[in-house]
Amino acid sequence: MSYDVAIIGAGPAGATLARLVGQRYRVLLVEKRTLEGPGKCCGGLLAPDAQGMLSQLGLGLPKSVLQEPQLFVVRAIDVPCRRERYYQRHYINMDRGQFDRWLLSMVPSGVDVRLGCRLRACTREKEGFQLVLRQQDGQRVETARIVVGADGAGSKVRRGLGLQRPAPRMYLAVQEWVEADASMPYFSSIFDPEITDYYCWTIPKDHLLAVGAALAPRDRTRERFERLKSRLRDWGFRFGRTVRREGALLLRPETVGHVSTGTAGIALIGEAAGWISPSSAEGLSYAFRSARMLAEVLHAGLDDVAPRYHRTSQPLRRNILVKGLKSRVVFHPGLRRIIMRLGLQSMDIYGGDER
Ligand SMILES: Cc1cc2nc3c(=O)[nH]c(=O)nc-3n(C[C@H](O)[C@H](O)[C@H](O)COP(=O)(O)OP(=O)(O)OC[C@H]3O[C@@H](n4cnc5c(N)ncnc54)[C@H](O)[C@@H]3O)c2cc1C
Repeated sequence: MSYDVAIIGAGPAGATLARLVGQRYRVLLVEKRTLEGPGKCCGGLLAPDAQGMLSQLGLGLPKSVLQEPQLFVVRAIDVPCRRERYYQRHYINMDRGQFDRWLLSMVPSGVDVRLGCRLRACTREKEGFQLVLRQQDGQRVETARIVVGADGAGSKVRRGLGLQRPAPRMYLAVQEWVEADASMPYFSSIFDPEITDYYCWTIPKDHLLAVGAALAPRDRTRERFERLKSRLRDWGFRFGRTVRREGALLLRPETVGHVSTGTAGIALIGEAAGWISPSSAEGLSYAFRSARMLAEVLHAGLDDVAPRYHRTSQPLRRNILVKGLKSRVVFHPGLRRIIMRLGLQSMDIYGGDER
């Protein structure tokens, strides 16, 4: 069968696009994972921008997706200047595996969803593209007029079609789920240039604590991660047994030139395009927003998709530009030191007798 649109990757970007265009077009949605179990290595926090996108998409979260506790405080720790500050910010704390399954459950029944199916190759033909797919029962070949790369940070679509350069900075995010006491219901962000020029975090997740770091790949990642845990102990964290260890690539677009929306007949959405905040690594709002923008473009027709999507996504490029500037301030050790010292917009935590 020939498809109008083949979407590679059923993460938040791909599943959302399939939901939005699946009733209008013949859509193939291909996902290499089976989407069972814990899900993508992720903090699983829905930041205010992502909450805003869910509201624009007319969605409400089911209870099954939530994890405890809901978070209202960010604790920022600057290790070299030995200072910490607290900020009010509301995150929805959720289970990333459940979240992806929920998004997929809303894809219309007419969409051909193939889980456990990996894109191996994509070649341009006269009228569209030929896709070579590998699943458990062997290799399949399909054709589609438009190909959408929604295949995340390591996007094969982006790499395979010469859309790699200029590439955003790439980090290896390492995350451990450890037993910890539940007395710190904060999202902590830790800045320590000896570990990374980006940042590290802790997020309470039900009875566990997710401890993560965005690290330069292939540069003593194991050693740096252990150093992070040891630093955190100095800041009062107590860790028990490590229950799970995981990793994922993470992009950091430093200029708008690092974002690639696609080329003739091919569109990239979500992190595959480089849509992710370079200051906070928040990517879910961008996945939803870029999927929605491309859906509007596809609804207007299948001709000239790439240039129309590029134009439509101009506001998102501006957003990346602003976040890039913010990132230069926040990650500049001297400027951060001043911000932390002044305590702008920070607050005190009052715990009464318990602290
Ligand atoms: C450790 C970590 C923590 C993060 N925490 C947060 C957070 O708390 N909040 C937030 O907003 N953002 C967070 N992010 C960023 C966020 O996870 C991503 O930006 C978001 O998942 C992007 O969605 P996506 O659909 O574009 O890509 P993905 O979610 O990466 O989905 C891509 C999908 O494509 C599939 N795929 C890949 N290659 C192929 C192939 N060849 N064939 C078929 N399928 C393929 C993958 O299996 C995957 O399911 C975090 C990222 C990391 C690494």
